[in-house]
Amino acid sequence: MNILVINAGSSSLKYQLYDMSTEQVLAKGRVERIGMDSSILTHEVEQQPEVREVSEILDHTTAIRKVLDMLTHAKFGVLSNIQDIQAIGHRVVHGGESFSESVLVDQAVKLEIRKLFDLAPLHNPAHMMGITAVETNLPEVPQAVVFDTAFHQTMPASSYLYAIPTVLYKKHQIRRYGFHGTSHDYVSKRAAEFLGKPLESLKLVTCHIGNGASCTAILNGRSYDTSMGMTPLEGLMMGTRSGDLDPAVVPFTLNKEDLTLNEVNSMLNKHSGLLAVSGISSDMREVVEAMKAGHENAKLAFEMYAYRIRKYIGAYIAAMDGVDAIIFTAGVGENSDVLRKEICRHLTFFGVTLDEERNAVRSSEPRTITTDDSAVSVLVVPTNEELLIARDTYRLVRNKLAGDSSEL
Ligand code: ADP
Repeated sequence: MNILVINAGSSSLKYQLYDMSTEQVLAKGRVERIGMDSSILTHEVEQQPEVREVSEILDHTTAIRKVLDMLTHAKFGVLSNIQDIQAIGHRVVHGGESFSESVLVDQAVKLEIRKLFDLAPLHNPAHMMGITAVETNLPEVPQAVVFDTAFHQTMPASSYLYAIPTVLYKKHQIRRYGFHGTSHDYVSKRAAEFLGKPLESLKLVTCHIGNGASCTAILNGRSYDTSMGMTPLEGLMMGTRSGDLDPAVVPFTLNKEDLTLNEVNSMLNKHSGLLAVSGISSDMREVVEAMKAGHENAKLAFEMYAYRIRKYIGAYIAAMDGVDAIIFTAGVGENSDVLRKEICRHLTFFGVTLDEERNAVRSSEPRTITTDDSAVSVLVVPTNEELLIARDTYRLVRNKLAGDSSEL
């Protein structure tokens, strides 16, 4: 079965086509600048030069059509026929309390996703455009949705509630949802396989450190607590997001700086974090380079960033009353040995002994970066959210096909 995984944003759309018999990526790419002039489609097939096509793509329906044309293109395509795509899997950021697992798309599911627009105004409407665009182009092909929040629906109320009047939760579902669930789920499963232990027996802290960043306490295979909240702003310091801060900072800043609420919101989401503290960049590579060159604010930003991850790891070890392994993943977590070292050198109390040589190794496979006698293992596990979306879609479609044929 071939499955097309789609991550639709408001002006962009990323895709990966999987052959599920081998879990190989046959082709991948992205459409950028949808709705603007000079939209760009970039298409990649392994061991072939990247294809770049500039044209006018005014909406998501056209974007999907262009992707399908490219996938079946005589020269650059990988499929002879569009019917060779048997299912589509979409990433959807917010599933609210309605979705604790991936589901096949039907009218009721679409209605629920629409109801959640308020909670994820930048993301869910764009995902809906992706779903509708597929329906228009491929009306017969089943679609599944995989939610970033679903994995965290196992959190107990003591983790997900905020200590504010309960009426706000009841009326508006104001609570912690958590994000990056697909990644935390994927790397925890991969880590258990790697350790050769059942996931259900493990206490794990997973650290997804990319542009956005979150830590999750995973107790016996289920999310027990996570650092992002009702929105992805809470928790760790990130590339451009502040992470945790006293909520009173918001009204105080509004008064003092004569800013609007939108401006403060934008400041906390887009102009804070590594970028604000370093004054250089939101990209960890550039911050580390500047730090090595003696830039004081880059050093401070790096230390704050690492310190906050360490505090969450410590909190989650206490929350679970122990830990078997700590896992780093995503752009920064997988690649920055300097950051991992800075975090781990202060975790000795918990039984972490970093092996510096192992920490410096680069690989696309899961690996241990602690010594053999370290009481707690620290692992680097490359994430693959698209693969998990493809797997969930595959499972749901196969189950449906099996159900349909048993009904005959
Ligand atoms: P997202 O999916 O949240 O956009 P990624 O997980 O792809 O982000 O991570 C992107 C970030 O990874 C970049 O902003 C960059 O800071 C960081 N990154 C990539 N390579 C390295 C590296 N070698 N060292 C440090 N940071 C890196």
